[in-house]
Amino acid sequence: MSKQFDVIVIGAGPGGYIAAIRAAQLGMSVACVDEWTNSKGGPALGGTCTNVGCIPSKALLQSSEHYEQAGQHFAEHGISVSGLSLDVGKMVGRKDTVVKQNNDGIAYLFKKNKVSFFHGRASFAKALDPAPAAAYAIKVAGAAEETLHAKQIIVATGSSARALPGAPFDEEMILSNDGTLRMGAVPKRLALIGSGVIGLEMGSVWRRLGSEVIILEALPTFLGAVDEQIAKEAHKAFVKQGLKIKLGVKVGEVKKGKKSVSIAWSNSKGEAQSTEVDKLIVSIGRVPNTQGLNGDAVGLQLDQRGAIVVDDECRTSLPGVWAVGDVVRGPMLAHKAEEEGVAVAERIAGQHGHVNFNTIPWVIYTSPEIAWVGQTESQLKAAGRGYRVGSFPFLANGRARALGDTTGMVKMLADAVTDEILGVHIIGPMASELIAECVVAMEFRASSEDIARICHAHPSLSEATKEAALAVDKRTLNL
Ligand SMILES: Cc1cc2nc3c(=O)[nH]c(=O)nc-3n(C[C@H](O)[C@H](O)[C@H](O)COP(=O)(O)OP(=O)(O)OC[C@H]3O[C@@H](n4cnc5c(N)ncnc54)[C@H](O)[C@@H]3O)c2cc1C
Repeated sequence: MSKQFDVIVIGAGPGGYIAAIRAAQLGMSVACVDEWTNSKGGPALGGTCTNVGCIPSKALLQSSEHYEQAGQHFAEHGISVSGLSLDVGKMVGRKDTVVKQNNDGIAYLFKKNKVSFFHGRASFAKALDPAPAAAYAIKVAGAAEETLHAKQIIVATGSSARALPGAPFDEEMILSNDGTLRMGAVPKRLALIGSGVIGLEMGSVWRRLGSEVIILEALPTFLGAVDEQIAKEAHKAFVKQGLKIKLGVKVGEVKKGKKSVSIAWSNSKGEAQSTEVDKLIVSIGRVPNTQGLNGDAVGLQLDQRGAIVVDDECRTSLPGVWAVGDVVRGPMLAHKAEEEGVAVAERIAGQHGHVNFNTIPWVIYTSPEIAWVGQTESQLKAAGRGYRVGSFPFLANGRARALGDTTGMVKMLADAVTDEILGVHIIGPMASELIAECVVAMEFRASSEDIARICHAHPSLSEATKEAALAVDKRTLNL
């Protein structure tokens, strides 16, 4: 069976499903093909983000946070809890329900926007058909075989977890993000290789639930992409919580026994070490998903990492073929994928789609949360840019005191001459929400004085942002 569309989107993760909806809103006929399959063999729309990424990790972070609060912090509020117990099966079940709500939500949005969905693996069948059709043929291998045609293709096939050489994922003892989010019991001893965003979030979940967690990181610095001062604060907070973080580590042989995994590694001084754990989570980066696309058949160009080569506007080496999200260069973030998806749909419609890479926010949903936008102090120094710094600790914020969560600070960096905000770095309660104001400010090229002059509700955590802006001019009111 052959079907003709204006646009075919391959992948229904945040990049793909948002691109499909935006293209449909702009009046195009759109097909979206995705191969993700749920436990019942049906489709599970939303990609990595919805099924084994952003959404399930945040559901478990929330549950584990409640558990830790009840066990360790309710008492400060005069609330005593006795007989506190943990039902990991129920917790994971709740996470699955949250995932399903999101899967169903996207299916509903496809119906509402008249996006035709095909469940199966999409691959390029051959190059452009001869004129006048001049369309790509996309083969869908699923429950039913289909061939779809369109002049415009958006590839949004995402990424998969990178395995450690010699230690493939079995999702029982050596886990990727997938197995990590499905563990049915709390492992007594847990090791993580990689202290990136995903590793830290997963480590936090299982530490809160009672695991002894050791993190082995190859890099000599902790959270290298984060502003140095904020990274130091984070390191202090995580170590205080009980995470064992080893930096400058070289991982050697990983051996799987019947009930445990042993990891040989050397520390930053080169001394040989060995760690025995019940489960090992490997979180050492992600690989773009291009296998199975049959891109070679049409000459789709990949870079050395296997990512699809695109220009600044997400155009690939082929006319009419675009690529967005984790499968291309740039940060592997759901909202970056979404923005690119919208921009591409708008470009196909002849509009001026736009993504501002300078104002993409980053968030690490640990406790304390870490969020930032724009440049770090070291980046500004390296660029020789003159800047002023203002920071304000949550310790001096009334709302944070009332919440009982005063870790961290807001730190603002502004141009030394024009006062334009160049970066904001937050560690502390609800940093993920607080950063939005700073993104808006930077998008509008606001100055620190602009934020300092804006009325912020009292008592609110956002007052710390205003105070950090005041601090740039050395005139905090509450410190
Ligand atoms: C544990 C974890 C937590 C994360 N937390 C966050 C977070 O809090 N915030 C954030 O911004 N990002 C987070 N991320 C990253 C985020 O999930 C990704 O950046 C995002 O999902 C990328 O979107 P995408 O659309 O490019 O690809 P994906 O979400 O990977 O979707 C790609 C889809 O394409 C399908 N597909 C692939 N090949 C084919 C094919 N040939 N035919 C048909 N279908 C195909 C896949 O099955 C998948 O459904 C997290 C990731 C992980 C692993």
